[in-house]
Amino acid sequence: MFEVKLLIDGEMLPSSSGATFERRNPLSEQVVSRAAAAAVDDARNAVDAAARAFPAWSQTGPGERRALLLKAATALEARAQQFITAMAEETGASASWGGFNVHLATGILQEAAALTTQVSGEVIPSNTPGSLALAVRQPAGVVVGMAPWNAPVILGMRAIAVPLACGNTVVFKGSELCPHTHSLIVEAMNEAGFPAGVVNFVTNAPADAGPVVEAMIAHPAVRRVNFTGSTRVGRIIATSCAQHLKPAVLELGGKAPLVVLDDADLDVAVNGAIFGAFANSGQICMSTERIIVDEKVADEFVARLAARARALPLGDPRGKDPVVLGSVIDMSTVERCNAMIDDALAKGAKLLCGGTSNSTLVPATLLDRVTPDMKIYREESFGPVKPVVRVNGVEDAIACANDNEYGLSAAVFGRDMARAYEVAKRIEAGICHVNGPTVHDEAQMPFGGMKASGFGHFGGRAGVHEFTDLRWLTLQTTPRQYPF
Ligand code: NAD
Repeated sequence: MFEVKLLIDGEMLPSSSGATFERRNPLSEQVVSRAAAAAVDDARNAVDAAARAFPAWSQTGPGERRALLLKAATALEARAQQFITAMAEETGASASWGGFNVHLATGILQEAAALTTQVSGEVIPSNTPGSLALAVRQPAGVVVGMAPWNAPVILGMRAIAVPLACGNTVVFKGSELCPHTHSLIVEAMNEAGFPAGVVNFVTNAPADAGPVVEAMIAHPAVRRVNFTGSTRVGRIIATSCAQHLKPAVLELGGKAPLVVLDDADLDVAVNGAIFGAFANSGQICMSTERIIVDEKVADEFVARLAARARALPLGDPRGKDPVVLGSVIDMSTVERCNAMIDDALAKGAKLLCGGTSNSTLVPATLLDRVTPDMKIYREESFGPVKPVVRVNGVEDAIACANDNEYGLSAAVFGRDMARAYEVAKRIEAGICHVNGPTVHDEAQMPFGGMKASGFGHFGGRAGVHEFTDLRWLTLQTTPRQYPF
C-alpha cells in the first residue's frame, strides 16, 4: 500500500489535521493507496507557497525552464513501470494504456520545454509619434490545475506543463481515485529540481472536494484555473470562477460521433471505431460514443465491427496476459452501462456483442439500431458500451452527429476526402479527424471542445495564450505632444 503526501513549498507533508483517505482496487477492493486529505487551510497554504515562488520563477530565463522541463521528462519516463503498476492498481487500466500515458505525458513535457521560447509578443504600429508599442505576454501568476483519473498521467501533466513553461507556478490537485499515480508525476518534477513552491500538490478526500477547490479559486493569488473532468463539476467550477473573475480552461465530457459515409473503406473505419470505442474500456473523453453509419453500408460494417469487438481480450490488468479491456473504474460505471443496455434493448435496439456485467470487468458491448429515445443515444456511457445509429445520406449523418449537447472530438470516414472534409467542417466539435479515430492527442495541438464539452485549449501556442497575460506596453522615445 502506498502513502501519498501533499507537496507544499518543497516539503512532503501530511494534511494539517492528519486526516487521510483510501483508494481501493476496483476489482479486488483491496486498499492500494492512502493519501493525505487536505483541508481548506492546506489548500490555501499550497497557493501561498506558489505565490511566494512566483516572483523568482517568473523571472527565470527560458533556457533554465526548458532544462528543468526536459529533466522532468527523463524522470517521468524512468518511472514508466511504476506508473503502469499504480494505474492498474488504482484505476484498473491495462498496461498498454498506462504505457501510452507515460509516453504522451513525456511528449507534453518535451513540447512545453520547446514552448519556453515561444512566449513572445509583437510590435504594433502606433498613431502616437515616437511611441514604440508592444504586445507582451507575461506569466499570469499561480495556476490551479485539476485532473481526473482516466488518463491520469497525460491529463495531470497537461494541467501543469504549459503553465510552468510560461513562468507560472502551480498547485496541482490530484484525483481522489488515483492519488498515487498523480503523486508519481510530482515525484518526477521534484527529482528534476524545480525550486521549492514552483510545483505544489494537493489531494483531498472526496467529500472535501467542493470546499478545497472553492478555497483555491477564491484565493487572490490564483490567476488561472484549469479543470478536466465531468460537465457536471465543470459547471460548478465555472460558476465559482465567474464569481471570482478567474479565467478557466474547462475540458469536460464528450459523446464523440464517428461517421461512416457510404464510400468509406470499411476496414479502415472498423479499425478506427474499435480503437476509439474500446481503448481504456471507453473511459476517455474523446472515446467514440456514437457510431453513425450510412444505411447503405451498415450491415457489412456492423458485421465486421462486431467480429473485432468480440475478440478483444478482457481481464484483470494485474494478471499475466496482456488485455485491451481492463477493469472499469468502479461499480457505478457498471450500473450506468447496464442501465443503458437494458433501456436500449427494451426500446428495440439489437445487441451485437457483449452485454450487462456484474463485476468491473465489462466486455466490449455494441448496440445496433439505436434511436434518439434511448439513453445511450444522448448520454456519455464512459464505459465499453457503444451505440450504432443508422442514417440515410450525408445530411442525415451530419444532423445526427450534431444532435448532442457535447462537442469535443469527432471522426468522419470516407474515400472522397473532399466530401469527408466538408462533413468534418460542419460537425460541431472542437476536434474532428477524417479517416482517423476520435481518440487522438498530440502535445502541440490545440486540444479543446465546444458546447457542453467546455472551452479553452491546452497545447501549443493556444496553451501559451491561456496561461499568460497579454499586456500593452509602450516606450515614448520622443517628447510627447499634449493638448494642454
Ligand atoms: P468528475 O468531474 O466527477 O471529477 C473530477 C474532479 O472534480 C474530482 O477529482 C473532484 O475532486 C472534483 N469535484 C467533485 N465535486 C466537486 C465540487 N463540488 N466542486 C469542485 N470540485 C469537485 O470527473 P471524473 O469522473 O473524475 O472524470 C470523468 C469525466 O471527465 C468524464 O465526463 C470525461 O468525459 C471527462 N474528461 C474530459 C476530458 C477532456 O479533456 N475534455 C478528459 C478526460 C475526462
